[in-house]
Amino acid sequence: MIVMKFGGTSVEDAAAIDRSCSIVGERISRKPFVVVSALGGATNGLLEAGNLAANGEMRAAMAIADRLEQRHLELLPSTAEHFVRLRELLKALSAIGEFSLRTQDLIAAYGEVVSSLIFTDRVQRLGFDAVHVDARQCMITDDRFGKASPLRDLTTARLEEIARPSLNSGRVVVMGGYIGATKLGMTTTLGRGGSDYSAAIAGAALNAEEIQIWTDVDGLMTADPRIVAEAWKVKEISFEEASELAYFGARVLHPLTLLPAVEQNIPVYILNSRKPKGTGTRITRQARPCRNLIKSIACKRGITIVTVSSSRMLMAYGFLKALFEVFDRHHTSVDMVATSEVSVSLTLDNVSWLDAIVEDLKSLGEVEVATNMALICLVGNNLKYTPGVARRAFGSIADINILMVSHGASNINFSFIVDQNDADSAIQKLHADFFHDIDREVFEQPA
Ligand code: ADP
Ligand code: ASP
Ligand code: MG
Repeated sequence: MIVMKFGGTSVEDAAAIDRSCSIVGERISRKPFVVVSALGGATNGLLEAGNLAANGEMRAAMAIADRLEQRHLELLPSTAEHFVRLRELLKALSAIGEFSLRTQDLIAAYGEVVSSLIFTDRVQRLGFDAVHVDARQCMITDDRFGKASPLRDLTTARLEEIARPSLNSGRVVVMGGYIGATKLGMTTTLGRGGSDYSAAIAGAALNAEEIQIWTDVDGLMTADPRIVAEAWKVKEISFEEASELAYFGARVLHPLTLLPAVEQNIPVYILNSRKPKGTGTRITRQARPCRNLIKSIACKRGITIVTVSSSRMLMAYGFLKALFEVFDRHHTSVDMVATSEVSVSLTLDNVSWLDAIVEDLKSLGEVEVATNMALICLVGNNLKYTPGVARRAFGSIADINILMVSHGASNINFSFIVDQNDADSAIQKLHADFFHDIDREVFEQPA
């Protein structure tokens, strides 16, 4: 069997959904298990409606619910019942005046609940036998609302029980991505962009031959094509390289997607649902050798740098331990660290607990915070063996101020921080330099 995941842009309207369903139909002999995202923009709409309701702006919240309902009803009238419940929830939110993570998950889940019903119906209309499975029955997670982790053994058991018999009898199985439920049945989500992760979890659970991520680009590219119009498609890349890119901001893959695939050595493909004849990008354990120094450039925006300066640091041990304990205590992960004799700078992606962190850090020294930074990350296996990457990278962006630098612990990434306003220009310059002379065995021009 194979897992096929269709993202929001692959199911944004009737035409896109039909295109995606045909792609499934053409692969029917491979026993597809389909994971589908909410219709493009639906998750944002749902969360916005929830926020408005909780702020007492019911009219605006209901207007969004109306628009979402209309969009879904045109595709499948029976989804109406879900919008009745959504409206009830929005009313309850306005009474409570608070939008907790748990309620956010409950509201956001409607997107995948209804999109997966629509997709199932459309596959059936194409003449294929298809069944819908409710992700909240299969994807069992812990109760970290907003970013829940699947409980792998339970999820595997449920998928075996609920989905396997249908797959074996030749039915297409369709499940909503991104969402799940706790053991007690409370709705959870795996975090934004989490449908990729759902697909990988399902692929590992059902021991898929491959996991296909169908999206709106030709594959994993040498840079985000929205920033670099002339980006090339990477034909083949290793799990290790692709994981690093996903972690450092290549939105085309949710950062955790490859973990389950790596464990079971299941190849992952990134494919374009608008050009289904394309070969996409193949992500596997071992990628073929490449003449270019790097495979791709990723970028994470909205980065914050926290610097702690203290003369107590000089020659003292225990300082870093105390410093990291602060981040640990506030469940905040650090991407990059740079130390000098009297200061430590760290970069954060999640600033939910920044105020509390800064307060605690003040006991260690003077604290400075710089916001609106971008982390740019060059990734490629060859970085392991080739010296001089910093000289080359900084040579091509000599006019841009670099704030922090790190040659990742994995040795296959080289990252640095620039002001967010400089990010696009830096990526374009780096791309022009690093992909000027391109290895056509590994890269190809998008179709
Ligand atoms: P989906 O809705 O299918 O999950 P996403 O919007 O989450 O799609 O991811 C696809 C987008 O990822 C592309 O449209 C592209 O702009 C962005 N992207 C960022 N970096 C890369 C990259 N290196 N290669 C391809 N796409 C990238
Ligand atoms: N619909 C969810 C989101 O927009 C999950 C996904 O698309 O992967 O974040
Ligand atoms: Mg996505």
